[in-house]
Amino acid sequence: MKISIFHFKNLFPIVAFLIFGSGAIILWQNQNKNEKDLVFLYTQTSSEQIRIRVEGLMNARMVSLELLADRWVERTPPDFSQKRFLEFAEDFYTHYPGFTGINWIDPEGVVRWVFPREINEDFIGNRVSEHLNLRVRDTFQKAGKHLKYVATPCTELIQEGLGFHTFRPLIYTGRVQGYLNGVFRVKRVMDTCLANSILTNFWIRIYEADQLIYTNEEQGPGNPEKHNLHVLGEINFPGKTWQLELFPKEALYPPKVVRNPGLLGFGMFVSALLSLLLHFLNHRMQMYRQARDHALHEVSERKRAQEALKKNEKKLEALLKELAAKNAELETFVFSVSHDLKTPIVTIEGFMGALREDFGNLIPEDCERYLNYIGDATRKMEALINDLLELSRIGRLTVKKSEFPLADLMEEVIAGLQPQIEAKGIQVTVSQGLPLVYGEKKRLIQVMENLLSNAIKYIGKENPSPRIEVGVREQDDQKVIFVRDNGIGIEKTYFEKIFQVFQRLPSAKKIGPGTGIGLAIVKRVIEYHGGKVWLESEPGKGTTFFFTLKNKEA
Ligand code: ADP
Repeated sequence: MKISIFHFKNLFPIVAFLIFGSGAIILWQNQNKNEKDLVFLYTQTSSEQIRIRVEGLMNARMVSLELLADRWVERTPPDFSQKRFLEFAEDFYTHYPGFTGINWIDPEGVVRWVFPREINEDFIGNRVSEHLNLRVRDTFQKAGKHLKYVATPCTELIQEGLGFHTFRPLIYTGRVQGYLNGVFRVKRVMDTCLANSILTNFWIRIYEADQLIYTNEEQGPGNPEKHNLHVLGEINFPGKTWQLELFPKEALYPPKVVRNPGLLGFGMFVSALLSLLLHFLNHRMQMYRQARDHALHEVSERKRAQEALKKNEKKLEALLKELAAKNAELETFVFSVSHDLKTPIVTIEGFMGALREDFGNLIPEDCERYLNYIGDATRKMEALINDLLELSRIGRLTVKKSEFPLADLMEEVIAGLQPQIEAKGIQVTVSQGLPLVYGEKKRLIQVMENLLSNAIKYIGKENPSPRIEVGVREQDDQKVIFVRDNGIGIEKTYFEKIFQVFQRLPSAKKIGPGTGIGLAIVKRVIEYHGGKVWLESEPGKGTTFFFTLKNKEA
Protein backbone atom coordinates (compact mmCIF):
# COMPACT_ATOMS: atom_id res chain seq x y z
CA MET A 1 0.00 0.00 0.00
CA LYS A 2 1.29 3.46 -0.88
CA ILE A 3 1.26 5.79 2.13
CA SER A 4 0.66 9.17 0.62
CA ILE A 5 2.64 11.21 3.19
CA PHE A 6 5.84 9.58 1.95
CA HIS A 7 5.10 10.52 -1.59
CA PHE A 8 7.73 12.89 -2.98
CA LYS A 9 5.08 15.43 -3.97
CA ASN A 10 4.22 15.87 -0.28
CA LEU A 11 7.84 15.99 0.83
CA PHE A 12 8.81 18.48 -1.84
CA PRO A 13 8.03 21.72 0.09
CA ILE A 14 9.76 20.32 3.21
CA VAL A 15 12.90 19.41 1.23
CA ALA A 16 12.89 22.82 -0.46
CA PHE A 17 12.48 24.53 2.93
CA LEU A 18 15.42 22.54 4.39
CA ILE A 19 17.65 23.57 1.49
CA PHE A 20 16.66 27.25 1.53
CA GLY A 21 16.72 27.36 5.35
CA SER A 22 20.27 25.92 5.59
CA GLY A 23 21.36 28.49 3.01
CA ALA A 24 19.87 31.26 5.13
CA ILE A 25 21.61 29.96 8.31
CA ILE A 26 25.01 29.69 6.55
CA LEU A 27 24.65 33.21 5.15
CA TRP A 28 23.60 34.52 8.55
CA GLN A 29 26.59 32.94 10.29
CA ASN A 30 29.16 34.06 7.75
CA GLN A 31 28.00 37.60 7.35
CA ASN A 32 31.53 39.14 7.56
CA LYS A 33 33.80 36.16 7.10
CA ASN A 34 35.28 37.45 3.88
CA GLU A 35 36.10 40.82 5.43
CA LYS A 36 37.86 39.09 8.34
CA ASP A 37 39.88 36.98 5.92
CA LEU A 38 40.95 40.12 4.09
CA VAL A 39 42.13 41.84 7.32
CA PHE A 40 44.11 38.75 8.31
CA LEU A 41 45.74 38.65 4.87
CA TYR A 42 46.61 42.36 5.10
CA THR A 43 48.19 41.77 8.54
CA GLN A 44 50.23 38.89 7.19
CA THR A 45 51.56 40.82 4.20
CA SER A 46 52.34 43.81 6.45
CA SER A 47 54.30 41.58 8.83
CA GLU A 48 56.25 40.27 5.85
CA GLN A 49 56.86 43.81 4.66
CA ILE A 50 58.29 44.81 8.07
CA ARG A 51 60.55 41.75 8.07
CA ILE A 52 61.91 42.47 4.60
CA ARG A 53 62.51 46.15 5.35
CA VAL A 54 64.24 45.64 8.71
CA GLU A 55 66.36 42.75 7.42
CA GLY A 56 67.16 44.71 4.26
CA LEU A 57 68.14 47.85 6.18
CA MET A 58 70.25 46.06 8.76
CA ASN A 59 71.99 43.88 6.19
CA ALA A 60 72.80 46.99 4.17
CA ARG A 61 74.22 48.77 7.26
CA MET A 62 76.37 45.77 8.08
CA VAL A 63 77.68 45.82 4.52
CA SER A 64 78.39 49.57 4.87
CA LEU A 65 80.51 48.92 7.94
CA GLU A 66 82.30 46.10 6.10
CA LEU A 67 82.97 48.46 3.26
CA LEU A 68 84.33 51.13 5.59
CA ALA A 69 86.66 48.62 7.17
CA ASP A 70 87.89 47.37 3.81
CA ARG A 71 88.42 50.86 2.35
CA TRP A 72 90.26 51.95 5.46
CA VAL A 73 92.86 49.23 5.15
CA GLU A 74 93.05 49.03 1.34
CA ARG A 75 95.67 51.83 1.05
CA THR A 76 99.28 50.79 1.24
CA PRO A 77 100.18 51.46 3.85
CA PRO A 78 96.69 51.69 5.31
CA ASP A 79 95.53 55.08 6.46
CA PHE A 80 94.21 54.67 9.99
CA SER A 81 93.99 58.40 10.40
CA GLN A 82 91.16 60.06 12.32
CA LYS A 83 90.51 62.37 9.36
CA ARG A 84 89.98 59.53 6.95
CA PHE A 85 87.82 57.61 9.37
CA LEU A 86 85.60 60.62 10.00
CA GLU A 87 85.23 61.25 6.24
CA PHE A 88 83.93 57.71 5.74
CA ALA A 89 81.75 57.78 8.84
CA GLU A 90 80.12 61.04 7.88
CA ASP A 91 79.51 59.79 4.37
CA PHE A 92 77.80 56.61 5.60
CA TYR A 93 75.96 58.30 8.43
CA THR A 94 74.49 60.89 6.04
CA HIS A 95 73.62 58.66 3.17
CA TYR A 96 72.53 55.53 4.95
CA PRO A 97 70.02 56.43 7.66
CA GLY A 98 69.65 54.15 10.63
CA PHE A 99 73.00 54.60 12.33
CA THR A 100 73.14 56.15 15.75
CA GLY A 101 76.89 56.04 15.85
CA ILE A 102 79.96 54.92 13.88
CA ASN A 103 82.97 54.75 16.15
CA TRP A 104 86.52 53.47 16.25
CA ILE A 105 87.87 51.64 19.25
CA ASP A 106 91.65 51.27 19.58
CA PRO A 107 93.31 47.86 19.97
CA GLU A 108 93.25 48.29 23.75
CA GLY A 109 89.48 48.62 23.66
CA VAL A 110 89.29 52.38 24.33
CA VAL A 111 86.80 54.43 22.31
CA ARG A 112 88.74 57.03 20.36
CA TRP A 113 86.94 58.51 17.39
CA VAL A 114 83.16 58.92 17.18
CA PHE A 115 80.59 60.11 14.67
CA PRO A 116 78.41 62.05 15.08
CA ARG A 117 80.20 63.65 17.89
CA GLU A 118 77.15 65.25 19.59
CA ILE A 119 75.49 61.95 20.35
CA ASN A 120 78.53 59.83 21.00
CA GLU A 121 80.76 62.28 22.86
CA ASP A 122 80.18 60.66 26.25
CA PHE A 123 81.50 57.45 24.83
CA ILE A 124 84.98 58.82 24.03
CA GLY A 125 87.70 57.54 26.29
CA ASN A 126 85.57 54.74 27.64
CA ARG A 127 87.18 51.36 27.89
CA VAL A 128 84.66 48.94 26.44
CA SER A 129 86.07 45.98 28.27
CA GLU A 130 85.17 47.82 31.40
CA HIS A 131 81.74 48.93 30.18
CA LEU A 132 79.13 49.17 32.90
CA ASN A 133 76.87 46.83 31.00
CA LEU A 134 78.03 43.30 31.41
CA ARG A 135 76.41 42.17 28.17
CA VAL A 136 78.33 44.78 26.17
CA ARG A 137 81.55 43.88 27.94
CA ASP A 138 81.18 40.19 27.30
CA THR A 139 80.25 40.62 23.67
CA PHE A 140 83.17 42.92 23.00
CA GLN A 141 85.54 40.44 24.57
CA LYS A 142 84.21 37.77 22.25
CA ALA A 143 85.09 39.96 19.24
CA GLY A 144 88.64 40.31 20.49
CA LYS A 145 88.97 36.69 21.38
CA HIS A 146 87.49 35.18 18.24
CA LEU A 147 88.37 38.02 15.89
CA LYS A 148 84.97 38.17 14.32
CA TYR A 149 81.94 40.38 13.97
CA VAL A 150 79.61 40.40 16.97
CA ALA A 151 76.45 42.20 18.00
CA THR A 152 75.42 42.91 21.60
CA PRO A 153 72.00 42.07 22.93
CA CYS A 154 69.68 45.09 23.07
CA THR A 155 70.36 47.25 26.08
CA GLU A 156 70.08 50.85 27.28
CA LEU A 157 72.56 52.92 25.28
CA ILE A 158 74.81 55.72 26.57
CA GLN A 159 73.51 57.56 23.48
CA GLU A 160 69.99 57.20 24.93
CA GLY A 161 67.34 54.70 24.13
CA LEU A 162 67.35 50.98 23.67
CA GLY A 163 69.77 49.65 21.08
CA PHE A 164 72.78 47.52 20.36
CA HIS A 165 76.43 47.69 19.36
CA THR A 166 78.21 45.82 16.62
CA PHE A 167 81.96 45.25 16.87
CA ARG A 168 84.15 44.30 13.93
CA PRO A 169 87.83 43.71 14.52
CA LEU A 170 90.11 45.53 12.01
CA ILE A 171 92.92 43.22 11.10
CA TYR A 172 95.95 44.19 9.08
CA THR A 173 99.02 42.03 8.61
CA GLY A 174 97.56 39.63 11.16
CA ARG A 175 97.34 42.27 13.86
CA VAL A 176 94.26 43.79 15.38
CA GLN A 177 94.35 47.47 14.46
CA GLY A 178 91.24 48.29 16.46
CA TYR A 179 87.47 47.73 16.24
CA LEU A 180 84.82 49.32 14.11
CA ASN A 181 81.82 50.00 16.29
CA GLY A 182 78.27 50.48 14.91
CA VAL A 183 75.62 51.79 17.28
CA PHE A 184 71.96 51.26 16.44
CA ARG A 185 68.98 52.57 18.34
CA VAL A 186 66.10 50.19 17.75
CA LYS A 187 63.56 53.03 17.54
CA ARG A 188 65.60 54.84 14.93
CA VAL A 189 65.93 51.65 12.88
CA MET A 190 62.23 50.99 13.12
CA ASP A 191 61.28 54.59 12.32
CA THR A 192 63.37 54.31 9.17
CA CYS A 193 61.84 50.99 8.19
CA LEU A 194 58.17 51.35 9.02
CA ALA A 195 55.89 52.86 6.47
CA ASN A 196 53.25 55.30 7.72
CA SER A 197 50.38 53.07 6.65
CA ILE A 198 51.75 50.27 8.82
CA LEU A 199 52.15 52.54 11.81
CA THR A 200 48.59 53.82 11.48
CA ASN A 201 46.97 50.47 10.85
CA PHE A 202 48.82 48.15 13.21
CA TRP A 203 50.09 47.76 16.71
CA ILE A 204 53.65 46.45 16.47
CA ARG A 205 55.69 44.64 19.11
CA ILE A 206 59.27 43.45 18.61
CA TYR A 207 60.94 41.17 21.08
CA GLU A 208 64.52 40.10 21.41
CA ALA A 209 64.61 36.90 23.44
CA ASP A 210 61.79 37.78 25.84
CA GLN A 211 62.58 41.47 26.04
CA LEU A 212 60.25 43.91 24.38
CA ILE A 213 62.58 46.14 22.38
CA TYR A 214 60.11 48.08 20.29
CA THR A 215 56.43 48.92 20.24
CA ASN A 216 54.30 51.69 18.77
CA GLU A 217 51.63 51.13 21.39
CA GLU A 218 50.59 54.03 23.47
CA GLN A 219 51.16 53.85 27.16
CA GLY A 220 48.33 52.76 29.39
CA PRO A 221 45.31 50.59 28.90
CA GLY A 222 43.88 49.58 25.55
CA ASN A 223 46.77 47.40 24.55
CA PRO A 224 45.64 44.83 22.05
CA GLU A 225 45.00 41.32 23.15
CA LYS A 226 46.04 38.40 21.08
CA HIS A 227 43.16 37.41 18.88
CA ASN A 228 42.64 35.43 15.75
CA LEU A 229 43.80 38.28 13.50
CA HIS A 230 47.17 38.61 15.32
CA VAL A 231 50.27 37.58 13.32
CA LEU A 232 53.72 36.40 14.51
CA GLY A 233 56.89 36.83 12.46
CA GLU A 234 60.67 36.59 12.79
CA ILE A 235 63.33 39.10 11.73
CA ASN A 236 66.87 37.86 11.13
CA PHE A 237 70.03 39.78 10.33
CA PRO A 238 73.68 39.13 11.25
CA GLY A 239 73.89 38.47 14.97
CA LYS A 240 70.18 39.04 15.69
CA THR A 241 66.87 37.26 15.76
CA TRP A 242 63.85 39.32 16.65
CA GLN A 243 60.23 38.25 17.17
CA LEU A 244 57.63 40.43 15.55
CA GLU A 245 54.02 40.66 16.68
CA LEU A 246 51.49 42.54 14.61
CA PHE A 247 47.91 43.43 15.56
CA PRO A 248 45.49 45.17 13.24
CA LYS A 249 44.13 48.32 14.90
CA GLU A 250 40.40 48.53 15.66
CA ALA A 251 39.77 50.81 12.69
CA LEU A 252 40.76 47.96 10.40
CA TYR A 253 38.40 45.43 11.98
CA PRO A 254 35.36 44.56 10.05
CA PRO A 255 32.37 46.11 11.78
CA LYS A 256 31.25 43.85 14.54
CA VAL A 257 28.43 41.78 13.29
CA VAL A 258 25.40 41.81 15.44
CA ARG A 259 23.70 38.57 14.57
CA ASN A 260 20.19 39.69 14.72
CA PRO A 261 17.85 36.72 15.34
CA GLY A 262 15.18 38.74 13.57
CA LEU A 263 17.31 38.58 10.42
CA LEU A 264 17.53 34.80 10.71
CA GLY A 265 13.79 34.69 11.29
CA PHE A 266 13.27 36.80 8.21
CA GLY A 267 15.58 34.45 6.24
CA MET A 268 13.60 31.45 7.44
CA PHE A 269 10.34 33.19 6.58
CA VAL A 270 11.59 33.97 3.06
CA SER A 271 12.75 30.34 2.74
CA ALA A 272 9.32 29.08 3.79
CA LEU A 273 7.67 31.49 1.38
CA LEU A 274 9.95 30.40 -1.45
CA SER A 275 9.31 26.72 -0.69
CA LEU A 276 5.57 27.30 -0.69
CA LEU A 277 5.82 29.25 -3.91
CA LEU A 278 7.82 26.43 -5.47
CA HIS A 279 5.29 23.95 -4.20
CA PHE A 280 2.39 25.85 -5.73
CA LEU A 281 4.31 26.34 -8.94
CA ASN A 282 5.01 22.64 -9.08
CA HIS A 283 1.37 21.91 -8.32
CA ARG A 284 0.22 24.31 -11.06
CA MET A 285 2.61 22.72 -13.52
CA GLN A 286 1.25 19.32 -12.67
CA MET A 287 -2.27 20.60 -13.22
CA TYR A 288 -1.30 22.07 -16.59
CA ARG A 289 0.44 18.84 -17.52
CA GLN A 290 -2.67 16.87 -16.61
CA ALA A 291 -4.90 19.27 -18.54
CA ARG A 292 -2.60 19.03 -21.54
CA ASP A 293 -2.56 15.22 -21.38
CA HIS A 294 -6.33 15.25 -21.05
CA ALA A 295 -6.70 17.60 -24.02
CA LEU A 296 -4.29 15.48 -26.07
CA HIS A 297 -6.26 12.40 -25.13
CA GLU A 298 -9.51 14.12 -26.11
CA VAL A 299 -8.07 15.29 -29.40
CA SER A 300 -6.91 11.80 -30.28
CA GLU A 301 -10.30 10.40 -29.21
CA ARG A 302 -12.08 12.97 -31.35
CA LYS A 303 -9.81 12.14 -34.26
CA ARG A 304 -10.60 8.47 -33.84
CA ALA A 305 -14.33 9.27 -33.65
CA GLN A 306 -14.07 11.43 -36.76
CA GLU A 307 -12.33 8.66 -38.63
CA ALA A 308 -15.02 6.21 -37.53
CA LEU A 309 -17.68 8.71 -38.58
CA LYS A 310 -16.05 9.12 -41.97
CA LYS A 311 -15.96 5.36 -42.39
CA ASN A 312 -19.64 5.14 -41.40
CA GLU A 313 -20.52 7.99 -43.74
CA LYS A 314 -18.87 6.15 -46.57
CA LYS A 315 -20.73 2.99 -45.63
CA LEU A 316 -23.97 4.95 -45.44
CA GLU A 317 -23.31 6.57 -48.80
CA ALA A 318 -22.76 3.16 -50.32
CA LEU A 319 -25.94 1.88 -48.65
CA LEU A 320 -27.92 4.90 -49.87
CA LYS A 321 -26.65 4.32 -53.36
CA GLU A 322 -27.62 0.70 -53.11
CA LEU A 323 -31.03 1.68 -51.71
CA ALA A 324 -31.59 4.23 -54.48
CA ALA A 325 -30.69 1.60 -57.03
CA LYS A 326 -33.05 -0.91 -55.37
CA ASN A 327 -35.80 1.76 -55.24
CA ALA A 328 -35.37 2.59 -58.87
CA GLU A 329 -35.48 -1.11 -59.65
CA LEU A 330 -38.64 -1.50 -57.54
CA GLU A 331 -40.31 1.48 -59.16
CA THR A 332 -39.51 0.12 -62.58
CA PHE A 333 -40.91 -3.21 -61.44
CA VAL A 334 -44.11 -1.55 -60.07
CA PHE A 335 -44.44 0.41 -63.26
CA SER A 336 -44.06 -2.60 -65.51
CA VAL A 337 -46.35 -4.74 -63.32
CA SER A 338 -49.03 -2.03 -63.24
CA HIS A 339 -48.63 -1.56 -66.92
CA ASP A 340 -48.86 -5.28 -67.63
CA LEU A 341 -51.90 -5.61 -65.34
CA LYS A 342 -53.77 -3.05 -67.36
CA THR A 343 -53.86 -5.35 -70.42
CA PRO A 344 -55.88 -8.18 -68.80
CA ILE A 345 -58.24 -5.58 -67.27
CA VAL A 346 -58.80 -4.02 -70.67
CA THR A 347 -59.43 -7.57 -71.97
CA ILE A 348 -61.92 -8.29 -69.13
CA GLU A 349 -63.72 -5.00 -69.72
CA GLY A 350 -63.71 -5.62 -73.46
CA PHE A 351 -65.19 -9.12 -73.16
CA MET A 352 -67.78 -7.96 -70.63
CA GLY A 353 -68.88 -5.35 -73.12
CA ALA A 354 -68.98 -8.04 -75.83
CA LEU A 355 -70.96 -10.35 -73.52
CA ARG A 356 -73.59 -7.66 -72.95
CA GLU A 357 -73.75 -6.68 -76.61
CA ASP A 358 -73.98 -10.24 -77.97
CA PHE A 359 -76.05 -11.93 -75.27
CA GLY A 360 -77.71 -8.93 -73.66
CA ASN A 361 -81.21 -10.37 -73.92
CA LEU A 362 -80.23 -13.84 -72.89
CA ILE A 363 -78.49 -12.82 -69.71
CA PRO A 364 -80.64 -13.66 -66.69
CA GLU A 365 -81.13 -11.11 -63.94
CA ASP A 366 -78.86 -12.81 -61.39
CA CYS A 367 -76.13 -13.13 -63.96
CA GLU A 368 -76.47 -9.43 -64.77
CA ARG A 369 -75.89 -8.69 -61.03
CA TYR A 370 -72.76 -10.84 -61.03
CA LEU A 371 -71.54 -9.14 -64.16
CA ASN A 372 -72.02 -5.76 -62.41
CA TYR A 373 -69.92 -7.01 -59.46
CA ILE A 374 -67.21 -8.10 -61.90
CA GLY A 375 -67.44 -4.70 -63.56
CA ASP A 376 -67.10 -2.84 -60.24
CA ALA A 377 -64.14 -4.93 -59.20
CA THR A 378 -62.49 -4.44 -62.56
CA ARG A 379 -62.96 -0.69 -62.38
CA LYS A 380 -61.59 -0.67 -58.87
CA MET A 381 -58.65 -2.67 -60.06
CA GLU A 382 -58.17 -0.27 -62.95
CA ALA A 383 -58.26 2.76 -60.63
CA LEU A 384 -55.78 1.07 -58.35
CA ILE A 385 -53.46 0.29 -61.18
CA ASN A 386 -53.77 3.81 -62.55
CA ASP A 387 -52.92 5.29 -59.15
CA LEU A 388 -49.99 2.92 -58.74
CA LEU A 389 -48.77 3.89 -62.19
CA GLU A 390 -49.04 7.54 -61.25
CA LEU A 391 -47.12 6.95 -58.05
CA SER A 392 -44.34 5.17 -59.82
CA ARG A 393 -44.10 7.91 -62.43
CA ILE A 394 -43.43 10.70 -59.86
CA GLY A 395 -39.79 11.72 -59.98
CA ARG A 396 -39.12 9.36 -62.82
CA LEU A 397 -40.96 11.14 -65.55
CA THR A 398 -40.32 14.83 -64.95
CA VAL A 399 -41.36 17.97 -66.70
CA LYS A 400 -39.50 21.25 -66.35
CA LYS A 401 -40.69 23.27 -63.31
CA SER A 402 -42.30 26.66 -63.93
CA GLU A 403 -43.82 29.56 -62.07
CA PHE A 404 -47.57 29.95 -62.43
CA PRO A 405 -50.47 31.59 -60.51
CA LEU A 406 -51.91 29.31 -57.83
CA ALA A 407 -55.31 30.90 -58.61
CA ASP A 408 -55.24 29.29 -62.11
CA LEU A 409 -54.52 25.89 -60.61
CA MET A 410 -57.35 26.22 -58.10
CA GLU A 411 -59.78 27.28 -60.76
CA GLU A 412 -58.93 24.22 -62.88
CA VAL A 413 -59.21 21.81 -59.95
CA ILE A 414 -62.45 23.24 -58.58
CA ALA A 415 -63.98 23.22 -62.06
CA GLY A 416 -63.19 19.48 -62.37
CA LEU A 417 -64.72 18.72 -58.95
CA GLN A 418 -67.69 21.09 -59.32
CA PRO A 419 -70.34 18.32 -59.79
CA GLN A 420 -69.39 16.61 -56.50
CA ILE A 421 -69.16 19.95 -54.63
CA GLU A 422 -72.59 20.88 -55.76
CA ALA A 423 -73.97 17.38 -55.08
CA LYS A 424 -72.89 17.64 -51.46
CA GLY A 425 -73.76 21.34 -51.15
CA ILE A 426 -70.31 22.26 -49.94
CA GLN A 427 -69.26 25.84 -49.54
CA VAL A 428 -65.73 26.16 -50.94
CA THR A 429 -63.77 29.30 -50.05
CA VAL A 430 -60.47 30.14 -51.74
CA SER A 431 -58.42 33.06 -50.31
CA GLN A 432 -58.11 36.15 -52.39
CA GLY A 433 -54.82 37.25 -53.94
CA LEU A 434 -53.26 33.80 -54.26
CA PRO A 435 -49.53 34.09 -55.10
CA LEU A 436 -47.42 32.62 -57.85
CA VAL A 437 -46.09 29.15 -57.10
CA TYR A 438 -43.14 27.27 -58.57
CA GLY A 439 -43.16 23.62 -59.61
CA GLU A 440 -44.46 20.98 -62.01
CA LYS A 441 -47.94 22.25 -62.65
CA LYS A 442 -49.44 18.86 -63.64
CA ARG A 443 -48.18 17.20 -60.46
CA LEU A 444 -49.31 20.09 -58.25
CA ILE A 445 -52.79 19.89 -59.85
CA GLN A 446 -52.75 16.20 -58.88
CA VAL A 447 -51.85 17.16 -55.27
CA MET A 448 -54.62 19.72 -54.98
CA GLU A 449 -57.13 17.34 -56.68
CA ASN A 450 -56.31 14.57 -54.22
CA LEU A 451 -56.58 16.84 -51.16
CA LEU A 452 -59.77 18.55 -52.33
CA SER A 453 -61.45 15.30 -53.43
CA ASN A 454 -60.58 13.78 -50.03
CA ALA A 455 -62.03 16.83 -48.27
CA ILE A 456 -65.20 16.45 -50.33
CA LYS A 457 -65.29 12.68 -49.83
CA TYR A 458 -64.79 12.79 -46.07
CA ILE A 459 -66.92 15.88 -45.36
CA GLY A 460 -69.44 13.65 -43.58
CA LYS A 461 -72.88 12.54 -44.71
CA GLU A 462 -74.78 14.42 -42.04
CA ASN A 463 -72.79 17.65 -42.10
CA PRO A 464 -75.28 20.56 -41.70
CA SER A 465 -72.94 23.18 -43.22
CA PRO A 466 -70.11 21.48 -45.12
CA ARG A 467 -67.23 23.90 -45.74
CA ILE A 468 -63.87 23.69 -47.43
CA GLU A 469 -61.30 26.43 -47.27
CA VAL A 470 -58.11 26.82 -49.29
CA GLY A 471 -55.45 29.41 -48.43
CA VAL A 472 -51.78 30.30 -48.45
CA ARG A 473 -49.37 31.99 -46.06
CA GLU A 474 -45.73 33.03 -46.56
CA GLN A 475 -43.29 31.59 -44.05
CA ASP A 476 -39.46 31.45 -44.10
CA ASP A 477 -39.01 31.99 -47.84
CA GLN A 478 -41.56 29.36 -48.71
CA LYS A 479 -45.30 29.06 -49.17
CA VAL A 480 -47.50 27.10 -46.82
CA ILE A 481 -50.69 26.03 -48.58
CA PHE A 482 -53.58 24.50 -46.65
CA VAL A 483 -56.82 22.70 -47.41
CA ARG A 484 -59.25 22.75 -44.50
CA ASP A 485 -62.55 20.90 -44.14
CA ASN A 486 -65.03 20.49 -41.34
CA GLY A 487 -65.51 16.79 -42.12
CA ILE A 488 -65.19 13.57 -40.13
CA GLY A 489 -61.63 14.19 -38.97
CA ILE A 490 -58.80 11.74 -38.28
CA GLU A 491 -57.54 10.30 -35.02
CA LYS A 492 -54.02 11.39 -34.10
CA THR A 493 -52.68 7.79 -34.19
CA TYR A 494 -53.26 7.71 -37.95
CA PHE A 495 -51.50 11.01 -38.77
CA GLU A 496 -48.42 9.21 -40.19
CA LYS A 497 -50.04 6.03 -41.39
CA ILE A 498 -52.46 7.66 -43.88
CA PHE A 499 -49.53 8.73 -46.08
CA GLN A 500 -48.58 5.11 -46.70
CA VAL A 501 -49.80 3.27 -49.79
CA PHE A 502 -53.11 1.36 -49.42
CA GLN A 503 -53.75 2.79 -45.95
CA ARG A 504 -57.44 3.57 -45.51
CA LEU A 505 -59.15 4.25 -42.21
CA PRO A 506 -62.18 2.15 -41.17
CA SER A 507 -64.30 5.32 -41.20
CA ALA A 508 -63.29 5.94 -44.83
CA LYS A 509 -64.27 2.43 -45.85
CA LYS A 510 -67.80 3.11 -44.59
CA ILE A 511 -67.99 6.30 -46.63
CA GLY A 512 -67.08 4.95 -50.02
CA PRO A 513 -64.49 3.42 -52.32
CA GLY A 514 -60.90 4.55 -52.54
CA THR A 515 -57.46 3.16 -53.39
CA GLY A 516 -55.51 4.38 -50.35
CA ILE A 517 -52.86 5.78 -52.69
CA GLY A 518 -53.97 9.44 -53.00
CA LEU A 519 -52.11 10.80 -49.96
CA ALA A 520 -49.02 8.72 -50.82
CA ILE A 521 -48.98 10.49 -54.20
CA VAL A 522 -49.39 13.89 -52.42
CA LYS A 523 -46.46 13.16 -50.11
CA ARG A 524 -44.28 11.92 -52.94
CA VAL A 525 -44.97 14.96 -55.18
CA ILE A 526 -44.41 17.50 -52.36
CA GLU A 527 -41.21 15.84 -51.22
CA TYR A 528 -40.06 15.70 -54.84
CA HIS A 529 -40.57 19.51 -54.84
CA GLY A 530 -38.44 19.81 -51.68
CA GLY A 531 -41.43 20.50 -49.42
CA LYS A 532 -43.20 18.88 -46.45
CA VAL A 533 -46.74 17.71 -45.84
CA TRP A 534 -48.56 17.30 -42.51
CA LEU A 535 -51.98 17.64 -40.96
CA GLU A 536 -53.95 18.84 -37.98
CA SER A 537 -57.18 17.09 -37.24
CA GLU A 538 -59.75 16.23 -34.63
CA PRO A 539 -62.29 13.46 -35.13
CA GLY A 540 -65.75 14.96 -35.75
CA LYS A 541 -64.44 18.49 -36.20
CA GLY A 542 -62.45 18.45 -39.40
CA THR A 543 -59.01 18.16 -40.93
CA THR A 544 -56.46 20.61 -42.29
CA PHE A 545 -53.73 19.40 -44.63
CA PHE A 546 -50.68 21.64 -45.00
CA PHE A 547 -47.91 21.44 -47.53
CA THR A 548 -44.99 23.73 -48.31
CA LEU A 549 -43.61 24.86 -51.66
CA LYS A 550 -40.25 26.53 -52.08
CA ASN A 551 -40.13 29.89 -53.76
CA LYS A 552 -38.33 30.07 -57.06
CA GLU A 553 -34.68 30.75 -56.39
CA ALA A 554 -33.57 34.18 -57.61
P1 ADP B 1 -58.47 7.12 -50.34
O1 ADP B 1 -58.48 6.64 -51.71
O2 ADP B 1 -58.98 6.11 -49.34
O3 ADP B 1 -59.10 8.41 -50.18
P2 ADP B 1 -56.13 8.48 -49.60
O4 ADP B 1 -54.72 8.05 -49.67
O5 ADP B 1 -56.50 9.63 -50.39
O6 ADP B 1 -56.97 7.22 -49.96
O7 ADP B 1 -56.52 8.65 -48.12
C1 ADP B 1 -56.12 7.75 -47.16
C2 ADP B 1 -57.07 7.79 -46.01
O8 ADP B 1 -56.98 9.01 -45.26
C3 ADP B 1 -58.47 7.78 -46.39
O9 ADP B 1 -58.92 6.43 -46.61
C4 ADP B 1 -59.17 8.41 -45.19
O10 ADP B 1 -59.41 7.45 -44.21
C5 ADP B 1 -58.21 9.40 -44.71
N1 ADP B 1 -58.51 10.75 -45.19
C6 ADP B 1 -57.90 11.41 -46.22
N2 ADP B 1 -58.38 12.68 -46.33
C7 ADP B 1 -59.25 12.85 -45.32
C8 ADP B 1 -60.08 13.93 -44.90
N3 ADP B 1 -60.05 15.11 -45.49
N4 ADP B 1 -60.90 13.76 -43.83
C9 ADP B 1 -60.92 12.56 -43.18
N5 ADP B 1 -60.16 11.50 -43.54
C10 ADP B 1 -59.36 11.62 -44.60
